[in-house]
Amino acid sequence: SELYGVEEWGGGYFGVNADGNVEVRAPGNGDRVAVALTDIIDGLQQRGLDMPVLLRIENLVDSRITILNESFAEAIKTTGYQGQYRGAFPIKVNQQSHIVEEIARFGERYNHGLEAGSKAELMIAMSVLQNRESLIVCNGYKDEEFIDLGLQARKLGFKCIFVLETLAEVRLVIERSRAHKVDPIIGVRLKLSTKVEGHWAEDSGDRSLFGLTTNQLVEIIDELREAELLHCLELLHFHLGSQIPNIRSIRAGVLEACRYYIEMVAEGAPLRYIDLGGGLAIDYDGTSSVSGHSRNYSVQEYCVDVVEALAQQLNAHNLPHPTIVTESGRATVAHTSVLLFNVLDVGHFEPGPVPSDLPENMHEQISNLWYTLKAINVDKLQESYNDVIYYRDQVRDCFFRGEVNLRDRAFAENLCLAGLQQIVALLPKMKRIPPELEELPEQLADIYYGNFSVFQSLPDSWAINQVFPVMPIHRLNEKPSRQATIADLTCDCDGKLDSFAGPEGETKTLSLHSIKEGEEYYLGVFLVGAYQETLGDLHNLFGDTNVASVRINADGTLDFVHELHGDSIADVLSYVEYDPQSMFRQFRMAAEQAVRDGRISVSERQSMLAAYSESLRGYTYFER
Ligand code: PLP
Repeated sequence: SELYGVEEWGGGYFGVNADGNVEVRAPGNGDRVAVALTDIIDGLQQRGLDMPVLLRIENLVDSRITILNESFAEAIKTTGYQGQYRGAFPIKVNQQSHIVEEIARFGERYNHGLEAGSKAELMIAMSVLQNRESLIVCNGYKDEEFIDLGLQARKLGFKCIFVLETLAEVRLVIERSRAHKVDPIIGVRLKLSTKVEGHWAEDSGDRSLFGLTTNQLVEIIDELREAELLHCLELLHFHLGSQIPNIRSIRAGVLEACRYYIEMVAEGAPLRYIDLGGGLAIDYDGTSSVSGHSRNYSVQEYCVDVVEALAQQLNAHNLPHPTIVTESGRATVAHTSVLLFNVLDVGHFEPGPVPSDLPENMHEQISNLWYTLKAINVDKLQESYNDVIYYRDQVRDCFFRGEVNLRDRAFAENLCLAGLQQIVALLPKMKRIPPELEELPEQLADIYYGNFSVFQSLPDSWAINQVFPVMPIHRLNEKPSRQATIADLTCDCDGKLDSFAGPEGETKTLSLHSIKEGEEYYLGVFLVGAYQETLGDLHNLFGDTNVASVRINADGTLDFVHELHGDSIADVLSYVEYDPQSMFRQFRMAAEQAVRDGRISVSERQSMLAAYSESLRGYTYFER
């Protein structure tokens, strides 16, 4: 299990048990309680849910909300900070109703609210939040209807805050508040000059797409003052980017925001909230570093640094301490979901047997290749590699010119593969591996074909090269003997996983076990609860996977809370505007014509129609 670094990236929620199975560890009565993923898969199969499955472990979200709120509470207590903390989960990070409803239900004890970036998300927030102390933070561009909805929320008693991103919005908010005769709560999103590292660096700095410049901020303050609504300007918002790797950038951002806070108060804005947006990062690769897939701080350190920086700055100006708001998305939901899939097949790059004597009458270039193989040794591996590739290409040219026949070419290709595998086996004995040979193990690695779609279930892996932890979820007492990359079911060369995080850093291949005849081999992709579900697409018409939510009770028992069958073929066809019923009618007509032409019997027609209709209702993924 150390191979996969699960103890490092698992956040205490995942580990390997004595039977060699990955288990989920949830907070229980006192100690953590654990359930093996293989037991969960058994339960899912008994309930008719086949692979691939997106498994949500509901109480991991609860645990993350607890950690975030308790860590802020602790930091507030130890620094003597006078304000409170209010979380607002950004719905866009995982809009699925079970997740958002669970956040609202469990978060109520901490007045944990929601962030909405569109009318639809605001409607979700208004329907799931029972508590009027929790915040609804409205970001994004807002039209009249959005603002009207938010003002209605105010009338119903929600703490709904409009965060202004543009000058046009302030005019609309002023006009609609007058029309509704209700005071809005207004925030401003600022463009800070603090820059962060990592993939989302462009969310910060002068060229970031969102946020007001200092000039625009001044204009907004003037417009609000003129409209006699400056007393509604209560929140300062900034967002430096998601997955901020370095805690120093977070502290720098808070310090810069404090300068604006102090100046805005001096202008007469009665600020009460400072909203840091998202950015609290996840350790996807278990390195606790600023690698881009990780971060150099813990949740606790994040909270302490934010609270300390605020207190330090505001105390110096004798200003009351505002409520701290964060819109942590990734850090709240990433752990909760695991994508589980089975391996359908393995492609090997293994040579067949090589005869000990060179068969007679072989083409000269093939015999050159054969003698090259015989001479491979660790002291001249680069030379052997060059020769193998040279003679292989010579044989290919000869085949092209008709001088080598099909069978002899096949013999030569096998020799070449055998030679390359011999070289790979000797690489660990080299003092320094030349760059060309470094990539050889990857080129000869197995391909494990997984029953899933990268585009549907792990879109960030394809779109932004996000590394998610991947590992077998069983057989971990056995030493894996294969090196592999993973291909999905789509016939797309981007439909693959070929970058893996591990204790040794990022690798191009993953250690896996060889497949046993008649036995399933299951892999899990972890930490996929943030951003993946709704960004996924229908490439090759692989639809939503089956989804199951489980809850691990404090006594270690397991509840299957929700199950949702993934898209059927008819579902995905209708998403791309086909009409499955008329497709069925056409198929029936074609079958009827075939009966008339005497190509099939009536009973064959019947079984063909039944199979077609069954397929329409069936799962889009591979079914055994
Ligand atoms: N708030 C805003 C305004 C965002 O744009 C984002 C995402 O980029 C978030 C919050 C969530 O960020 P994270 O998932 O890093 O917590």
